[in-house]
Amino acid sequence: MEMFRHPDTVRDLVASWRFRGHRIGFVPTMGYWHAGHLRLVEAARARCTKVVASIFVNPTQFGPNEDLAAYPRNLDRDLALAQRHGVDLVFCPGPAEMYEPEHDTWVEVPRLSQRLCGASRPGHFRGVATVVTKLFWIIQPHLAFFGEKDWQQLVIIRTMARQLSCPVEIVGCPIVREADGLAMSSRNAYLTAEERAQAPALFAMLQHLHRLVEAGQTDVASLTEAGREYLATHLPLGRLDYLQFVHPDTLEPRLVVEPPTLAMAALFLGKARLIDNHRLV
Ligand code: AMP
Repeated sequence: MEMFRHPDTVRDLVASWRFRGHRIGFVPTMGYWHAGHLRLVEAARARCTKVVASIFVNPTQFGPNEDLAAYPRNLDRDLALAQRHGVDLVFCPGPAEMYEPEHDTWVEVPRLSQRLCGASRPGHFRGVATVVTKLFWIIQPHLAFFGEKDWQQLVIIRTMARQLSCPVEIVGCPIVREADGLAMSSRNAYLTAEERAQAPALFAMLQHLHRLVEAGQTDVASLTEAGREYLATHLPLGRLDYLQFVHPDTLEPRLVVEPPTLAMAALFLGKARLIDNHRLV
């Protein structure tokens, strides 16, 4: 396995692979890997002959009061996992390799970026879309793999790639959960034992809503109220950021649950902000 910090070195090696007929799969990450990241690596290995992963805590997607400095990091462990799971090249630049001091070119998908997570994290998706575009240019993969846990991010990246005519196929991969249902996330490391014990109630709430829908409840206002009540009982340490019912492809809000509808939620819990989503119909 190769490990490079500099975009030019990455570009040269991947170009030689492409020239020899390899199909390049790309898995962008911010590191502190868990089974969700490894799931993307497996998906890339299944469809590609060379797998490139990036590990870069991208400063432009963090707000001024967010956790950039505290974001969990363990590069040695990530590299060992990458090697064991058959990654061919890990690109791990520092901010100086990715952004010149006067960087002011941005990729924006404003209509999809302002709602849901974008409402409480202004500028976040601009940073994501910009860094993914840059990584696509550096690596020039055939396919790129993203987790469905970050559903809004996946929709934004698909839209960005389509609208900019990027020759990259965007592949979504299912959410990987802990045994108790909590969606895996590097940020779960922030949770205290007490918070961690309550955290699975976020997904349990989405499953509760699923059962209500199966029982015939389709009114979004009453489902929202049911979700809030569930969290007040089972996750009292949390503060709900949003619970919304949307069309999965357009993220347009639904007034009634009709096929297809995705429930999306975000919740502040201690130092963490958890997100999750679940297809209702
Ligand atoms: P991150 O390192 O948190 O930026 O995540 C890198 C990629 O892994 C993104 O495409 C995420 O959506 C994906 N990912 C993170 N957690 C999970 C999970 N629990 N299940 C599936 N994919 C995930």
